[in-house]
Amino acid sequence: MKKVIVIGGGFAGLAAASSLAKKGFDVTLLEKNCDIGGRARKLTISGFTFDMGPSWYWMPDVFENYFKEFGSVVSDHYNLIRLDPSYAVFFSKEEVMRVPANLNEFYALFEKYEPGSSVQLRKFLADAEYKYNISMSDFVNKPSLSLLEFMDFRILSAAVRMDLFKSISKCIKNHFTNTKLISLLEFPVLFLGAKPNETPALYSMMNYADIVLGTWYPMGGMHKIVEAMENIAKKQGVKIKTFERVEKINIVDGKAVSVVSNGVVIPADIVIGAADYHHVEQNLLEEKYRNYNEEYWKSRKMAPSCLMYYIGIDKKLEGLEHHNLFFDAPFDIHAEEIYDRPQWPSNPLFYATCASKTDDSVAPAGKENLVLLIPIAVDIEDTEEIREKYFNIMMDRLEHLTGQSIKQHVVVKMSYAINNFKEDYNSFGGNAYGLANILKQTAVFKPKLINKKVSNLYYAGQLTVPGPGVPPAIISGQVVAKEISKKFSN
Ligand SMILES: Cc1cc2nc3c(=O)[nH]c(=O)nc-3n(C[C@H](O)[C@H](O)[C@H](O)COP(=O)(O)OP(=O)(O)OC[C@H]3O[C@@H](n4cnc5c(N)ncnc54)[C@H](O)[C@@H]3O)c2cc1C
Repeated sequence: MKKVIVIGGGFAGLAAASSLAKKGFDVTLLEKNCDIGGRARKLTISGFTFDMGPSWYWMPDVFENYFKEFGSVVSDHYNLIRLDPSYAVFFSKEEVMRVPANLNEFYALFEKYEPGSSVQLRKFLADAEYKYNISMSDFVNKPSLSLLEFMDFRILSAAVRMDLFKSISKCIKNHFTNTKLISLLEFPVLFLGAKPNETPALYSMMNYADIVLGTWYPMGGMHKIVEAMENIAKKQGVKIKTFERVEKINIVDGKAVSVVSNGVVIPADIVIGAADYHHVEQNLLEEKYRNYNEEYWKSRKMAPSCLMYYIGIDKKLEGLEHHNLFFDAPFDIHAEEIYDRPQWPSNPLFYATCASKTDDSVAPAGKENLVLLIPIAVDIEDTEEIREKYFNIMMDRLEHLTGQSIKQHVVVKMSYAINNFKEDYNSFGGNAYGLANILKQTAVFKPKLINKKVSNLYYAGQLTVPGPGVPPAIISGQVVAKEISKKFSN
């Protein structure tokens, strides 16, 4: 059996490991932290359980397909519920939009803000559905090693309708004029890590994911997905080892022969770098074996980092939903301060997840579990004083917008930002969400999942294809596993 070493135990590493073990490879997964899950680890303090990273469960079909590959269904692993409302958007104290899960109610909401807009919305969503279906069936599962993969009549003719060269901002404004509806439809772009006017309209498929496929929640928290994937990996025979910080990948005659972890040499026939791509190349590989140099990485447009606060509140809060977006500040200025003039935002948008609104298990009885998040530029100064300043800004706004005292009820408080991303995940620039999804960094233009100089070294994770987010990270692991088994299976 060929020995595969997977470096990194996030979604991508877990998916790659399980898929290869199922195909008969002898797989060991090495994770530097004490827990697996990567950016989706959980944090437990004084009876509060926080999801440290992802909190939006979108594209449920991807999870269902993943579990199906291993002969199970989502409900074998966790209880998934659809959130309704999907989320609330706070435009001001007086104006809070609660976004309904029901599609007819969603159309009615649009009519309320812009008479006649539900007709436009139907057209917009039909187009978004087309893009979603084509992307999921024909694009995301491709290794994107060459443009030739896309030279097929069906794909080429579909590509015209995929709106690669128009911005999502333009596409939305062609359909709607109300600024609040425009903000609502531009919001999923936040996940994609680029400004709406630079994000291809292809990504209106995320609006389909949001509005039609819905926002879901696994009871117990997003970490339930990690637990399910860990169980599957173990069942497939993957050896999962934590506290294993890989320091080097050894190359002999153009082949990876071993990795060094905590000073111990571990032999390998195949190596997958499922930690941050930049870290794997720049820190674990000799310069002559790297696909990309430091200049290349500096020229990339990164998706944001973020400042987060994990907070326990000693009472129940009024007016909040499970997911809450605070759009009582201009989106454009905040986006400029992330991408064009990197600096701490002068007047930040932020969001708050209050999972205890849905799930009693994540906070002690009568208390609330709150995670606050501000997207920020990568690699800017990160100090306790700056974090505290933004904690106070968010608290003041929360108290004002929801009309209640909150700050004096904080009983648990922990911050997380750029320095933690670097320290915990070896993240390039302290990024949270990988590379920005602009056209120049899509598909064949992303860092390649194979190493061009080392014949048995591969990459998986949010910095390679198909991109950032939990579903794409899972798909990335599956795609790399398919490439490896094509090449190495007898
Ligand atoms: C705050 C935040 C919120 C998010 N919100 C959402 C959301 O709501 N919905 C969504 O779909 N996505 C969301 N995302 C994105 C999503 O979480 C990521 O895209 C995904 O988890 C990335 O998985 P990965 O496996 O590529 O990388 P990671 O999760 O980073 O896994 C890589 C692993 O490699 C390990 N590692 C690093 N260096 C080494 C080494 N030298 N040796 C051994 N191990 C090493 C790291 O410790 C880590 O465990 C969010 C991300 C963040 C940070």
